[in-house]
Amino acid sequence: MDINVLKFGGTSMNDHKTWKQVLEIIRGYEAPVVIVSATARTTRQLIESAKLAASGDLDKATEIADSIQDRHLTIINDFLTENPHAKNELIRESCEKKLSEKVGLLKKLLLYTKEQAELSDKMKDAIASIGEQISSYLLAQCGLAVNLLTQYIDAKKIIKTDAEYGHANPNRMLINQRCGSLETVLESGFTPIIGGFYGEAPDGTTTTLGFEGSDYTASLIGGALNSNTIEIWTDVSGIYTSDPRFIDDAKPIAELSYFDATEMAFYGAKVLHPSTLKPAQERNIPVLVKNIFDPEASGTKIVRESELNKDILAMSFKDNAALVTVSAYETVMGYSFLTNVFEELENQRLPVDAVNTTEASVTISLTDSEKLDVLSKNLIEVGTVKLERKKGLVSLIGCSLSNIDDLTSKIFNSVKDTDIDMITFTKEKRILSIVVDQDKMLDVARSIHTKLFE
Ligand code: ASP
Ligand code: MG
Repeated sequence: MDINVLKFGGTSMNDHKTWKQVLEIIRGYEAPVVIVSATARTTRQLIESAKLAASGDLDKATEIADSIQDRHLTIINDFLTENPHAKNELIRESCEKKLSEKVGLLKKLLLYTKEQAELSDKMKDAIASIGEQISSYLLAQCGLAVNLLTQYIDAKKIIKTDAEYGHANPNRMLINQRCGSLETVLESGFTPIIGGFYGEAPDGTTTTLGFEGSDYTASLIGGALNSNTIEIWTDVSGIYTSDPRFIDDAKPIAELSYFDATEMAFYGAKVLHPSTLKPAQERNIPVLVKNIFDPEASGTKIVRESELNKDILAMSFKDNAALVTVSAYETVMGYSFLTNVFEELENQRLPVDAVNTTEASVTISLTDSEKLDVLSKNLIEVGTVKLERKKGLVSLIGCSLSNIDDLTSKIFNSVKDTDIDMITFTKEKRILSIVVDQDKMLDVARSIHTKLFE
């Protein structure tokens, strides 16, 4: 059996039209296993409602629950109206029943959260996963309306995890065992439709795999089934050299290695859940990133070794960065100085984007937040502190500076009219980061992109 695992993200699950596209794509495969995200915005809204409930505002929280229900009702109604089928009344009934069951559950959880006046990680997972629980069931029903043999399967039956709510770790052995049941479904001619993102802890409670977790669900299942491909379907043609919403000449990257794609996932290119490539890599399964609106486009193919040898892979950028510079008081020794600074970062749970250091001073680039005020105050014990806000970080990923002199001159040419606050580069990670004023960041990014990716 030629099994392909297909994952459709939130934008693919946006409305009845994209649902139709998704189902037509599924139709083209011999033995597809389908993983879906929640419909667009739903996960975010669910978490928002949970927070509102915890803060005591049950009315607002309930309003959100109702709006989620309404949005899904609209999708089903529009879908079933545009795709008439003898069984549509039955399908509609079963969709409405499931939807009110799940929204009813959501409201119970919100009420409980309000009563507790706090949102535990466990409760957050139970609530956040409802989007996928709904979307997978409804899409499977709509598949029947267009004569596909789609079958809803609860992800909790397959994705077994530990109890680390919020970012649960999959139990690969159990998942491998459970995936046997998917083969049985496929053999009888049915297409399993499974919600991504969530799974089940040993005690039966719901867990989630973290932000963008549906990608990970897809690759865990693909790995377990040793599928032909793991396909991440989205609304753009693959992984781009930079964010195409801001960088006009950004283009899809035809091919990437697992290694480089993993680096990209970690360094800001929010394309895939960072753990996604591991199960694929273990069994050497190609991961394809494709566009539901242009299914013929080849998109990006992620494989063990890419044929395309590149001096640079991609560029990411983010605003709302800040620089913290700490200069040691004379009496402090170099090594304890750095330890003291980093200890304070750990205390504040602040992840660092880039660091430059000399013996007696250190400059750290990180995402701005109120925590930086606390950090700066606490660091006064260690040295003089300067906090600069409204900075932007441009990072070049997969950058082989050593290979080409040209690259360095192009980079420096692109920033020659701008004050550079900081530059870091490591050969090992092949990441070059530049910090500039936030309002210059996009200009710098565009100029670098044009020069390097032309
Ligand atoms: N719906 C979840 C999220 O927004 C999981 C996913 O879409 O991958 O993070
Ligand atoms: Mg995604």
